[in-house]
Amino acid sequence: MAKRDYYEVLGVNRDAGEEEIKKAYRKLAMKFHPDRNPDNPKAEEHFKEAKEAYEILSDAPKRAAYDQFGHAGVDQTAGAQGFGGAAGFGGFADAFGDIFGDIFGGGRGRANVYRGADLRYNLEISLEQAARGTETKIRIPTMAECDTCHGSGAKPGTSPTTCPTCHGHGQVRMQQGFFSIQQTCPKCHGTGKFVATPCPSCHGSGRVKHQKTLSVKIPAGVDAGDRIRLSGEGEPGVGGPPGDLYVVIHLAQHPVFQRDHDDLHCEMPISFTTAALGGEIEIPTLDGYAKIRIPAETQSSKVFRLRGKGIRGVRSTTPGDLLCHVMVETPVSLTERQKELLRELEAINLKNEARHNPRAKSWMDKVREFFAQ
Ligand SMILES: [Zn+2]
Ligand SMILES: [Zn+2]
Repeated sequence: MAKRDYYEVLGVNRDAGEEEIKKAYRKLAMKFHPDRNPDNPKAEEHFKEAKEAYEILSDAPKRAAYDQFGHAGVDQTAGAQGFGGAAGFGGFADAFGDIFGDIFGGGRGRANVYRGADLRYNLEISLEQAARGTETKIRIPTMAECDTCHGSGAKPGTSPTTCPTCHGHGQVRMQQGFFSIQQTCPKCHGTGKFVATPCPSCHGSGRVKHQKTLSVKIPAGVDAGDRIRLSGEGEPGVGGPPGDLYVVIHLAQHPVFQRDHDDLHCEMPISFTTAALGGEIEIPTLDGYAKIRIPAETQSSKVFRLRGKGIRGVRSTTPGDLLCHVMVETPVSLTERQKELLRELEAINLKNEARHNPRAKSWMDKVREFFAQ
């Protein structure tokens, strides 16, 4: 399952302040704390999710990394610093400080405002574009404010009235044992408003489908799975701010190179005479051709590393390497003359197999030993 957005987990806006984040977390932690929900794995999951979101969003550098790159930006930090351990618990206790104030003090109902949904756009780019960075235009479907009713959802000439169930608060209170619990009003879904005659264009939702074109700057070094956040380009909110648009990077398959983080790999076929005698060959890199000297007696699957000829990742200070995997090619479509020469070569080789084909010789010895047992 994809990881949920941390802001969504805590139910706060992207521009929420420290205090607001702390408050939202405290509320969730109280609701889902394992002590209050014994033997409820769902609650425990919610609790852990909220804890993780709080740990990232309450830490300014981690929050900045998350805002720019999403989960990919903080997952590495998470591994390196091992958060979620005992050290994280201090923050929890601290956030729990005035838990009772929250239970008994709160409860002034207020109509809900909704932040718009975040949107995801899958963008495929070439390896070269990922390495150098690029700018591209994308068209995305989105929901825009309805022109007919200007977002109110009510038929022109009429206007929404106060919701009769929650009296405009957007929330209703329910007594559940010892606790009094607030819930989103089921009639108006938290808006606090009730539309008696819906707008014919948007059927009362206040929003219509719409296409928009956006320009996206792709930073040099992005990798598959990286996310670029376009703040406020998601769906418009209901009385709240719009969501964000996440452009998720996919890499098209490259005819020559395979990418592994900052390193590039390529296969390098060489003739068997070059492999035996040595020579110089040209290999492609992202910035044109480079020469490699093949030493004599090079074996298949040997790897040549060209330092710095890989990709400089978004979060890297130095570029990766290019690794060329040698593949010795057996000659094909031989003429009679070529075959004759090879048979002659084979005959000479066989006279001193251990010297000319040491690997084959030692392998054969092992095989014989195995069958002799
Ligand atoms: Zn409308
Ligand atoms: Zn209501």
